[in-house]
Amino acid sequence: MKFQNTLQFAKQLDKEDTLQNYQQEFHFPEIKGKKSIYLCGNSLGLQPKQTKNYVNNVVQDWASLAVEGHFYAEKPWWDYHERLAEPLAKIVGAKTKEVSVMNTLTVNLHLLMVSFYTPTKKRYKIICEEKAFPSDQYMLQSQARFHGFDVEDTLVEVKKRKGEHFWRTEDIVAKIKEVGEELALVLIGGVNYYNGQVFNIKEITKAGKSVGAKVGWDLAHAAGNVELELHNWDVDFAAWCSYKYMNSGPGNASGIFIHEKHLNNPNIPRFEGWWGTKKETRFLMKSEFEPMENADAWQLSNPPVLSVAPYLASLEQFNAVGMKQIVKKRNLIVAYLEFVLQQIDSEVANSTFEIITPEDRGTQLSVLLHGQGKALFNYLMENGVILDWREPNVIRVAPAPLYCSFEDVFSFGQILKEGILSL
Ligand SMILES: *Cc1c(COP(=O)(O)O)cnc(C)c1O
Repeated sequence: MKFQNTLQFAKQLDKEDTLQNYQQEFHFPEIKGKKSIYLCGNSLGLQPKQTKNYVNNVVQDWASLAVEGHFYAEKPWWDYHERLAEPLAKIVGAKTKEVSVMNTLTVNLHLLMVSFYTPTKKRYKIICEEKAFPSDQYMLQSQARFHGFDVEDTLVEVKKRKGEHFWRTEDIVAKIKEVGEELALVLIGGVNYYNGQVFNIKEITKAGKSVGAKVGWDLAHAAGNVELELHNWDVDFAAWCSYKYMNSGPGNASGIFIHEKHLNNPNIPRFEGWWGTKKETRFLMKSEFEPMENADAWQLSNPPVLSVAPYLASLEQFNAVGMKQIVKKRNLIVAYLEFVLQQIDSEVANSTFEIITPEDRGTQLSVLLHGQGKALFNYLMENGVILDWREPNVIRVAPAPLYCSFEDVFSFGQILKEGILSL
């Protein structure tokens, strides 16, 4: 398709967009009394309008039923989280029994490390990407120390090449081969939060397995953003938060994936709690733990229903659309965003910015600002565009396909141009 950087062309794309009506299903923040252009769904997704009903129902059941709500609410609380497994499994390419919802992301990564990072004197190293999301770095460092290993020696970071802004799959695979028999675990962010790169999960997982390591993925920026086939790709485990592309609300519950082959393994180490034991016998209050036969075996506590409810609201919306449609619109709107950025860049006198996201990408384009930097970001925010800033000089622009329009992308371009010319 030959794009044009005009309002008329953007409006035409909106007309042809089959997801166009979904924009009305979300609440948009306003800036100076006007609906904002929200390009920050990679950080916190917008609130679907139906979310309030899901939460209100729980609040209402709590008021009218109190403790009886555990079993007699319209959606009983004791197994509320089970309703999420099927829709969530579709989004991440898993079997229903391989996914569960619990806790929050970093907590879950630690819990999964208990099961999948079982280092020995010979095989103890962990491969991750350089400059991984800080929480992941702290998590990995503290795990290495917890097991009595030296952090520097244990964590092997794959670097980007000099002058490049992305990681090469071949460099990651080469590093895996090089560490070889010493490699216990590969744990990488499936979509990098900074440059928006989508890693080749299938190839990297295969390489990790071939040297006898476990392979896990932090899918914070991948879930609900890119197509995933966690089961078929033979991923050992994964976890993600639900508040970025998955629109479940600030700090909300996390999803986990555990490959079927690790379920019902009596030898797997795991931290356990009463919601992981078989539900048929749970209330007999026995002292021996009988693990659930699905990923729920990793559940510790009874589910935080008030936070799981908005996640269910969002999952039902995602599945009404389906990842195929979401990815289709995503590809078009991100291509249009790239085109608009390139046009603006050629219209202003100097090359003021550069897109650093490689071709393997999802919804987010990361733009490295030369020159104005923070002042330009502030100009955008003051003029109705919500996006985010990452030190030292990157703005991340993410037109989430469910609620962003092509007109939003066009208008963003115009405001960006004004900003560059006026600063
Ligand atoms: C957003 C994000 C997190 C956040 O972790 P929480 O435990 O939910 O605060 C962790 N890792 C990555 C890669 C992220 O993008």
